[in-house]
Amino acid sequence: MSDLISALQAIVGEPHVLADADLRSGYESDWTGRWHGESLAVVRPADAGEVAAVLRTCADHHVAVVTQGGNTGLVGGATPDDRSPEIVLSMRRLDSLGDVDPALMQVACGAGVTLARLQQAAGDAGLQAGLDLAARDSATVGGLVACNAGGLQAIRYGTARRRIAGLEAVLADGTVVSRMSGLRKDNAGYDLASLLIGSEGTLGVITGVLWSLVPRFSDRSLALVAVDSVSEAVDAARALLGRLPSLELLEFLDEASIRISLEQLSGTPPAPITPAWLLVGCASSGDAQEELAEALVESGLDERAVIAVDAIRRQRLLSIRESLTEVIAAAGVPHKFDVGVPLGALASFMDELPGVVADVAPTARTFVYGHLGDGNLHVNLLGPDPDDESADEAVLQLAARSGGTITAEHGVGRHKPQYLSLVRSDAEIAAMWAIKRALDPEGILNPGVILA
Ligand SMILES: Cc1cc2nc3c(=O)[nH]c(=O)nc-3n(C[C@H](O)[C@H](O)[C@H](O)COP(=O)(O)OP(=O)(O)OC[C@H]3O[C@@H](n4cnc5c(N)ncnc54)[C@H](O)[C@@H]3O)c2cc1C
Repeated sequence: MSDLISALQAIVGEPHVLADADLRSGYESDWTGRWHGESLAVVRPADAGEVAAVLRTCADHHVAVVTQGGNTGLVGGATPDDRSPEIVLSMRRLDSLGDVDPALMQVACGAGVTLARLQQAAGDAGLQAGLDLAARDSATVGGLVACNAGGLQAIRYGTARRRIAGLEAVLADGTVVSRMSGLRKDNAGYDLASLLIGSEGTLGVITGVLWSLVPRFSDRSLALVAVDSVSEAVDAARALLGRLPSLELLEFLDEASIRISLEQLSGTPPAPITPAWLLVGCASSGDAQEELAEALVESGLDERAVIAVDAIRRQRLLSIRESLTEVIAAAGVPHKFDVGVPLGALASFMDELPGVVADVAPTARTFVYGHLGDGNLHVNLLGPDPDDESADEAVLQLAARSGGTITAEHGVGRHKPQYLSLVRSDAEIAAMWAIKRALDPEGILNPGVILA
């Protein structure tokens, strides 16, 4: 063990190997407080060369590597567990950010660049990142890509996968693979970058990416639509999806989520509290407010809608939705799910959910919100013990029965490997294992994440 620490110190420098328990502790538990474990040390490399040397050293010592960016993931994937000796590889020092290429609309970023910094650089160049989520100040580019994050604007710009024009990574044996030419078209063989996107640190350590930016629209508009049921919310979503090309955001909150969010905001609610609210946002180079108002009238939703007429009111409305993850986490250790359900099955999923939860966790409080336009619901339960998996199993089985998925954006992490077979066949899981064994034969990268 002291051999390993000395070898790691020789690679990254003594100040960047945190072996003291107090210094390590912030890296050893996840954002929700549900997952935690101990590591031998937290190692903070500065570039791909140091990452490669750290991986080779860990392989020599038979020590596993848990890669961590901003540690805002919600499925325990960046947190050590106590099953094998592990180090935490913190990527935050890889924070170089290149100049935006305005013609190609691309920018090279180190894996440790935060989303907020990327958004700022894109904005300064008259563009936008094309991805947004509430953890923007801490979540890193490497983490977003490793989880194939979605977020608030995925309905318009897709998930992180769509934003990647190039990628550099270090494989388990310390080999650096890099495809950062930025070619828009390149079909030479297997696409390793695609394989690493969404691999949650199990196939390689992403050290940098070429991020593909999107145009920034001059005008934005946001409305809150108060509806009387989930099926009305789904009908409204369908009507708007077909009618509003400038749609950039389509979020859902159930009544429990509306109430808990409003409790921490002062002032009168912006609309009557009904069984569900929708937030509908547009971004356009024309008049976004006019486009939104017109679509609301055509969809018969105008009488239930409140339009935010300026940026401050828009931010106020948005914060009702954006604050939820934090507000719920402040009330206890939540059991969190990011299920995906086809729009056609969403109302029946929501009808069945209270009964399914009550059967196994009768006193649990349930909150549902999420990215309705993508059929992606965040189900949050407060009450069950963090180690009690019975509600997790029940909710994920319901998602699978509904023709959906156990994870639409957060990934499998340490939370859900045992549920993977609900939505992936034996053949698919066998193929995943074959890929994992080929790229990480010693199993040192994030053991226990995705594949149990
Ligand atoms: C308030 C809040 C709101 C959120 N909203 C959303 C949302 O709307 N949509 C959404 O998709 N997610 C959301 N998340 C989850 C989270 O922000 C994302 O999953 C984000 O992508 C994680 O980035 P990170 O840098 O914090 O990664 P971490 O939490 O550090 O790591 C996440 C996973 O990626 C791996 N990883 C990290 N960096 C690398 C790397 N360089 N190379 C290889 N593997 C790596 C880790 O091993 C782990 O498996 C939210 C989280 C919070 C706290």
